[in-house]
Amino acid sequence: MKNKMSIHWLEETVEEISKRNLTEFTFSTGKTPSGHVHIGILREIIICDALRRIFEKRGAKVSFYLFMDDFDAAKRFPYYIDTEYQKTYLGKPFALIPCPFEDCGCDSYARHFGNELISTFKYFGIKNEIIWTYDLYQKREMQEKIRIALENTDKIKEILKKYILPTLDNERKQLFIDMQKTWIPAMVICDECNKIQYKAPDGTIQPNRVTKYLKKERDVLYECPGCGYKGKKSIYSGKLKLNWRVDWPAKWALFNATCEPAGKDHSVKGGAYDTGIEICQKVFDYEGPIKLPYEWLRFGNQDMKTSKGIVFTPNKYIKLADPELYRMLILRTNPMKHISLRMEEIPQYYDYYERMENIFYGIEKPESKEESDFLNYLYPLIKIKDVPIHKPRRIPLKLLTFLSQMQNIMSLNKLYEKAISSITTLNDESVISFEEFKPLLKRTENWINEIKHYKDSLKDEKAKRNISNKIEIFSIPKTIESKIINSLSDDQINGLKKFRDFLADNDHLDADSIQNKIFTIAKKELEIPPRKMFEALYLIILGSKSGPRLGPFTLMLDRPWLMGRLNQSLQ
Ligand SMILES: [Zn+2]
Ligand SMILES: [Zn+2]
Repeated sequence: MKNKMSIHWLEETVEEISKRNLTEFTFSTGKTPSGHVHIGILREIIICDALRRIFEKRGAKVSFYLFMDDFDAAKRFPYYIDTEYQKTYLGKPFALIPCPFEDCGCDSYARHFGNELISTFKYFGIKNEIIWTYDLYQKREMQEKIRIALENTDKIKEILKKYILPTLDNERKQLFIDMQKTWIPAMVICDECNKIQYKAPDGTIQPNRVTKYLKKERDVLYECPGCGYKGKKSIYSGKLKLNWRVDWPAKWALFNATCEPAGKDHSVKGGAYDTGIEICQKVFDYEGPIKLPYEWLRFGNQDMKTSKGIVFTPNKYIKLADPELYRMLILRTNPMKHISLRMEEIPQYYDYYERMENIFYGIEKPESKEESDFLNYLYPLIKIKDVPIHKPRRIPLKLLTFLSQMQNIMSLNKLYEKAISSITTLNDESVISFEEFKPLLKRTENWINEIKHYKDSLKDEKAKRNISNKIEIFSIPKTIESKIINSLSDDQINGLKKFRDFLADNDHLDADSIQNKIFTIAKKELEIPPRKMFEALYLIILGSKSGPRLGPFTLMLDRPWLMGRLNQSLQ
């Protein structure tokens, strides 16, 4: 017998969560604000946001947290941080490092990059609560978790050994066993140098490990490998942090995390998630969250890392494209499959979106019940705001693409008129205001510029052509060089004159009749190859021999402008 298929992969997690018979649910995610945070982090955040919506809709109480792990120490800095600055602050917790940019006014390095990410959430429809880990460690309830961990050091060591040892080769096994002899699961910010770990010249990281726990006094002794300072500190001082493998389960237990996604580095066998669950159960007495493993999101063919490589932030994305498309991309794709975000595929994303929306509103017929179920499930989860009763009017991307490249020859008002006339019928109130139109046009312009830039960077001609086939990129020069006009043949000049007269005589034309007329002029009236006629028009409009399909393109152009251009060329 075949297993019953879920209508959407999220339902499998929903079912697993539901088995716990809870009335309150907590979804959690985490990030260390070590630099510009790339858009990949939104994969786990959007998955959790979808879970939040699903359980809220059922009337449950839902908490959704993002742990900003700003108590983590700076192990390295991204390339765009000044090297002197790097030397000064290496080893300090990100929360205690000042913002690296002058006159910025933020409280810390962590707040600078953390807030940069957080400020984009509203555009993606994400509703979560931020927990700054450094602040959390100043609270008694978290400090109690430190106490519990210190009193269960042996138990924690056993668990870690059980999971980690089998993954190591013999040499590293011995190192691990030796390391564990003095290991205690907490570290301390040095009173002398303010660092919490030291990066040795050989590159190894040495935390300011607690050397002894004084149970009666609730104090710890510690040593700073960086400056050599030895000190004593209360576990309630706010200067202690748990080892990362213990920090995670401590937070799960404190917040009763129901489900937390885990990137593939953490979800491997023997990884921090597995050890975390067992520590959570055996040390902190909480069953732990349901693990939801997910694959990385790539940008084109490249991996994204905070510390190196390309930086493509959510902030950058919203300047180029619709956040609903991004939510769609995340939520339509099984989390175990990798996603390559490609800005040149925005038109395909739109096509998928259109189809999904049409099926949701019963305008288009789905291919199967499965498709219909899937898309009906998906659509409400990708909306930034509430689901509208009727299908919203939208200026097609293709049209926006055209209009955004005509800004040097047409006023904003005229571009707006063009846009609106294509989506409203006579007795329809225009549903997209001028104020809404302007940012749409700007976003499209940014996107086209990004694509141009990307296309220019490609070496492979076929790859370049692929982009040109999908996205109409052109530029309209203010004037056409006389050299170009002089190169036109008498037939071409005649053809252009006929075309000009045709436009002058006909006010209401559609794209097809324009396209047909160009053919007729060439084939019937002048008996020249139509190609010659098209070339002539492209040359006087764009200054090049090819361009977008002429019928729709000339229709889109401002008529007086086009007449002016034709007249100038035919003088
Ligand atoms: Zn700043
Ligand atoms: Zn020190």
